[in-house]
Amino acid sequence: SAKMDGKNTFKLYQTDYSGELSRKLEIHQALQQALGNKESMSVNYQPIIDMQTERIAGFEALLRWNDPTLGTVSPSEFIPIAEESGLIMQLGEWVIRTTCKQFSELYKNCNASPYLSINVSTRQFENESFVRKLSSILEETNFNPKLLKIELTESIMMKDVEKTIEQLKGLNDLGIEVFLDDFGTGYSSLNYLGELPISTLKIDRSFIQGIDDLGKEAIVRTIISMANSLEKGIIAEGVEKECQLLYLLNNGCHNIQGYLFSKPVPFKDIIDLINKGIPGRTS
Ligand code: C2E
Ligand code: MG
Ligand code: MG
Ligand code: MG
Repeated sequence: SAKMDGKNTFKLYQTDYSGELSRKLEIHQALQQALGNKESMSVNYQPIIDMQTERIAGFEALLRWNDPTLGTVSPSEFIPIAEESGLIMQLGEWVIRTTCKQFSELYKNCNASPYLSINVSTRQFENESFVRKLSSILEETNFNPKLLKIELTESIMMKDVEKTIEQLKGLNDLGIEVFLDDFGTGYSSLNYLGELPISTLKIDRSFIQGIDDLGKEAIVRTIISMANSLEKGIIAEGVEKECQLLYLLNNGCHNIQGYLFSKPVPFKDIIDLINKGIPGRTS
């Protein structure tokens, strides 16, 4: 009966809700534990290719977590939980220190100097001591700030404008450029996008995957021309197919990141990737 269905629906909803909640709690608890020794944490690196030079321009650091009981947990699942609970502060600092150390080592053992691009949560970025802490890690690891990029999302624009600009200027003063990540998916005030000291827009993967789709194709073209008018750089993320690459090149976007060239790889494989050059192309 209708009544029965109603009851069942309600019960199902309740069960799902508590299932989701307990998964979150479980992840939160395991994350707290993982932060104790960080043994289950590592960072993979995905190349960003400059098609004009046909070389790797830089690498994006992407956090990986393989928990002894939960197994591999995706950052899209655990990062939001770390943000909500505040654990992101500690986790984020660990990512910065670890990756800066690793890349300092890399620069000593390699002729090329690809930049290091680190994702930073809005919550982490808005903390007043963020710039100071970052600066001290750079000193500690002897890292050239010109080789560091910070990836932030559009959600920084939903915060206090003055404060956001002040923090961004703090990064620029250190010599660090900022990339605006997942561009096009969040809240962007076009009013002051041009005023923000941000060097580069990263077009979100969802638009790149829609390049074969007439409506979305126009969006990609529009974002590229907007970046050009604002005199900002442009990177396409999530490029998987040759046809997407060709479209981007034809429309003036030559910084390419995606599975077409490489998945994120462990640190030990970076030098090989640099030496091998771009697969299927002369370099
Ligand atoms: P993101 O910063 O936009 O990173 C790009 C994501 O797209 C990565 O997922 C990457 O592995 C994936 N990707 C790259 N190329 C392709 C492609 O061609 N096809 C497909 N299907 N995917 C591709 P990942 O590593 O799972 O990270 C997800 C998100 O988690 C990141 O999105 C970022 O927002 C966040 N994240 C990862 N590491 C960190 C970190 O250290 N700190 C913070 N705050 N966030 C992080
Ligand atoms: Mg990113
Ligand atoms: Mg992104
Ligand atoms: Mg993304």
